[in-house]
Amino acid sequence: MNVSMSLSLDNTQIAFAYKSTASLKRARFLFSIIQSPLVVSLATRVTPFLMNTGLPINGLIRSTIFNQFVGGETLEETARVSKQLGAYGVQVILDYGVEAKEGEENFDDVTEKIIEAIEFAATQNNIPFVSIKLTGIASLKLLETLNEAPRLRSGIHDSEMEDAAWERVKERMYAVCEVAAEKGVGILLDAEETWIQDPIDRLAIELMEVYNKEKVVVYNTYQLYRNDRLHFLQLSYKIAKERNFLLGAKLVRGAYMEKERLRANEHGMTSPIHIDKEATDKDFNDAAAFCINNKESIALILASHNEQSNLLVAKLMAEKGIPANDPRVHFSQLYGMSDPISFNMAKEGYNVSKYVPFGPIKEVIPYLMRRAEENSSVNGQTNRELLFIRRELARRKAKK
Ligand SMILES: Cc1cc2nc3c(=O)[nH]c(=O)nc-3n(C[C@H](O)[C@H](O)[C@H](O)COP(=O)(O)OP(=O)(O)OC[C@H]3O[C@@H](n4cnc5c(N)ncnc54)[C@H](O)[C@@H]3O)c2cc1C
Repeated sequence: MNVSMSLSLDNTQIAFAYKSTASLKRARFLFSIIQSPLVVSLATRVTPFLMNTGLPINGLIRSTIFNQFVGGETLEETARVSKQLGAYGVQVILDYGVEAKEGEENFDDVTEKIIEAIEFAATQNNIPFVSIKLTGIASLKLLETLNEAPRLRSGIHDSEMEDAAWERVKERMYAVCEVAAEKGVGILLDAEETWIQDPIDRLAIELMEVYNKEKVVVYNTYQLYRNDRLHFLQLSYKIAKERNFLLGAKLVRGAYMEKERLRANEHGMTSPIHIDKEATDKDFNDAAAFCINNKESIALILASHNEQSNLLVAKLMAEKGIPANDPRVHFSQLYGMSDPISFNMAKEGYNVSKYVPFGPIKEVIPYLMRRAEENSSVNGQTNRELLFIRRELARRKAKK
């Protein structure tokens, strides 16, 4: 049992042991480039267009941004990455990274891919979770309507067509959860924009009530940059207690801040996002503490690149005598980012996973562009990434 707090997240030798010097240099080059908002803004506009012209840029994308942030084009390719991570005690959350396309046939195809991913995960010893975006299997328009429909809030559907479409979405999710429960793989339902989140939350609660009786199969995601989510987490816990199921809670700060603020502004509404980063941080850390304090009924996935938040949870665990490898507490970072957190925590015996998307290069471009955008802001993650990569390269050079 490891409950000591000697945990340090800045050992770069441990963080990058799985990377060759050549691949670290490629990562340094990539992060240096995407540090520039101008380059990223140009790339996000031009790349999707170039992909459609048939120009041979696949190789360039693959050897740079794709290899940094994506597990592979297929499950077989991704298996190599997950084995590599597994050698260092790091687990994997598999994500079919293809962006949502509208249409019932596409939704059925995505459902099949997710089920394939679950079946594959069950054959590997370090892939405990598969993540799902509901917009991959449900129409955006439907979700928006359901989010708004006041009558639906009381459980009465607005029209037969919407009713039937929503039933199909539910059938898809039940099919996914059925396989997941049978194979012992967890399902993480991603959180999306506020204007579609309500039906996602309701479905998550419904599924948790069915599948989380003895162990946690289904996890909902709580975006703590929203000013109502700490309360919603507490409410979800209360519902779980009343209805006798276990709560699966994946905590994130939230990815759509600019979009949310812009939309609230356009609609003359109060923004659903906290007024500043400090308020988000406070709710995120309070939510994490709430989960740890109620660990008898909550399984927590702390999905964050924030060192303080990860250390805080490790400290709370130590204070409460919770072993590092307690199956109810899990830490996660995106593949290609924050290796110092993932690998140092894994080395200390914590349950840590990388969120690893997979899919054909052309189809995962939007995911890649989002990673580039997220890393290009001045306060973004890139400075931290570059600092650690440069430190490790210098360490290796000095050792020669
Ligand atoms: C494994 C994993 C799964 C994820 N799944 C989802 C998901 O399902 N849905 C989703 O939305 N996101 C998801 N994310 C992304 C996540 O929400 C964050 O955008 C990202 O992780 C950065 O937050 P942080 O805690 O890592 O780090 P930090 O760098 O400490 O925090 C940055 C975040 O703080 C918030 N913030 C920044 N400035 C302000 C401000 N001025 N006012 C208020 N808040 C501010 C924003 O949320 C911003 O993204 C996931 C991340 C990971 C690692």
